[in-house]
Amino acid sequence: MQRFGNTIRALLRPDRPRCIGCGEPSSGEEDWLCERCQEKIEKLDLLNTPRCPRCGAPWQEGGCPICRDWPERAVSAAVYRYGFAAPLDSVIHQMKYRGAMRVAEWMGDDVAELIRHEGMDDCDLLVPVPMHPARLRERGHNQARTIAEAVSIKTGKVLLDALVRVVNTRQQTRLAGDVRRQNLREAIAPAAGMNVKGKSVLLIDDVITTGTTMNVCAAALWAAGAREVRAAAFAGSIWRPAR
Ligand SMILES: [Zn+2]
Ligand SMILES: [Zn+2]
Repeated sequence: MQRFGNTIRALLRPDRPRCIGCGEPSSGEEDWLCERCQEKIEKLDLLNTPRCPRCGAPWQEGGCPICRDWPERAVSAAVYRYGFAAPLDSVIHQMKYRGAMRVAEWMGDDVAELIRHEGMDDCDLLVPVPMHPARLRERGHNQARTIAEAVSIKTGKVLLDALVRVVNTRQQTRLAGDVRRQNLREAIAPAAGMNVKGKSVLLIDDVITTGTTMNVCAAALWAAGAREVRAAAFAGSIWRPAR
């Protein structure tokens, strides 16, 4: 009935923007997100959830199974604001089509709050996870960088594009984990002329999935002489909420 009502309203007001979470005509305060999606997102908020200090997954008694096998030169700590589940997958996917700047601002606010909450605001630099130029042309913007820009404005921290993707690894999702990791290691490198020596770096990404990309970035930053490498993301699918 609710759905039917929304459809009628949309017919009466065809210009009413649609929610980027569910596609229904928006009814909330923000015209890009409806109240129902807003409520769902609040339930995915991990701000005050006890976490594994290393990978940021919700705390588990008896040791964390997620980061147990992480390499030595991984990030020393990672946090993410939300569990990556519907409607956030759609929000992140749609961000590039509509209201990108407003959505990015909202993400930036939430990540900035997380960083302060976790005491990571003592870092020197924000470094976005890089995107290959070919993919950047295709997508129009690097979401990790868009979020990092918003976080930089919010926190006053310097944003530095310290890393570049020198190989487009997009086609490699079907390769076996080991081969993919090796290829990825060679695909991400320090950017020319960007100095991270002695700096405390906070990597910024939109979504942490397996953590592999993040840790390959971390290895490149450690190798370039960073004093500290941590990471903060908008969402994480390392941990999936129970349904
Ligand atoms: Zn919605
Ligand atoms: Zn962990």
